[in-house]
Amino acid sequence: MSKTTSTTSSLSFAHVPHPSPVSAEKRAELLKNPGFGRVFSDHMVTIRYHETKGWYDAKVEPRAPIPMDPAAAVLHYAQEIFEGLKAYRTADGGATLFRPLENARRFQQSAERLAMPILPENVFLEAVDQLVKIDRAWIPEGDGSLYIRPFMFANEIFLGVKPSSDYLFIVIASSVGAYFKTDAPAVSVWVSQDYTRAAPGGTGAAKCGGNYASSLQAQAEATRHGCDQVVFLDAVEQRWIEELGGMNIFFVFDDGSMITPPLGGTILPGITRNSLLTLAKDKGIKVSEERYSIDQWRKDAASGRLREAFACGTAAVVTPIGTVRSNDGEFRIGNGGSGAKTEELKAALVGIQRGRTADPHGWIHRVY
Ligand SMILES: *Cc1c(COP(=O)(O)O)cnc(C)c1O
Repeated sequence: MSKTTSTTSSLSFAHVPHPSPVSAEKRAELLKNPGFGRVFSDHMVTIRYHETKGWYDAKVEPRAPIPMDPAAAVLHYAQEIFEGLKAYRTADGGATLFRPLENARRFQQSAERLAMPILPENVFLEAVDQLVKIDRAWIPEGDGSLYIRPFMFANEIFLGVKPSSDYLFIVIASSVGAYFKTDAPAVSVWVSQDYTRAAPGGTGAAKCGGNYASSLQAQAEATRHGCDQVVFLDAVEQRWIEELGGMNIFFVFDDGSMITPPLGGTILPGITRNSLLTLAKDKGIKVSEERYSIDQWRKDAASGRLREAFACGTAAVVTPIGTVRSNDGEFRIGNGGSGAKTEELKAALVGIQRGRTADPHGWIHRVY
């Protein structure tokens, strides 16, 4: 893992002015109800990499289509990784990010798994800061945020199968509303018994587009069964709960204890997951990383030993799970709605993220 330790870099970012940014009136209109992932800010950051030059040509420029050769490697062999984090408005006119260094580090780990070059942490952070600074006006007021999407893909024009010699790293930003409103209704989940997400030795712990491509059929199956999300079981025994398509999962028991499935190569190491583990410990909640089977889940829900379950991730933060459905039938968790621990942990996390409460772990990064 020595490659992932950060090196400092002296890349400087060229600024290309936007010839026609969106007007303040049009932006205000777009920010009224942005939804998720459809409203984009004016700019993007791009950095190129070539194996003989390293990282070069860093730019903050107008967001625009990227010319691409049809033989670009990513279009054929999916050598692509990404990140997701949110920027928040501060009352004094600045902006903050939540634990962006963790995203920079995970990006390095994903790159390593996909045989891609390692972007230094400080360059990742600088790229994100630059974009948030120039496009702060795109952070919605109130409960919304600016979702930052750094990503990198293989850009060599070559159909041979090998790690690419060229890469493009890009950061874009999308204004998002409150993904799920406060007191959002609990979601229903489909436990897939036909598809798995990640196998030992595979790419389950890397944040790569390919994992999402292979989860879409299972998500479609969930939708056909009237469920909002899919839950994946482990690929070996098809019995241990792993995670959702893009969120980690927690279980809350009648004695107040909590568990979440352990990382181990097939589960994405969520920063929300990690933060909730810490916050639960802060609150004196007995929390452990432990395997939990679908059969046990069903039994514990029936007996009442299991009180709550929730999914977590940057986009939706904390989402209660109310109903679980599979080929073997359906069961309800608690009263089918959200639970007290779920709401308590969510409030603690959101309070820190939004700067409303103290930040004892130093998780808030001030952009300016
Ligand atoms: C991004 C992601 C998560 C959540 O990670 P956060 O850092 O909390 O946003 C969980 N599972 C998968 C598969 C993911 O891609």
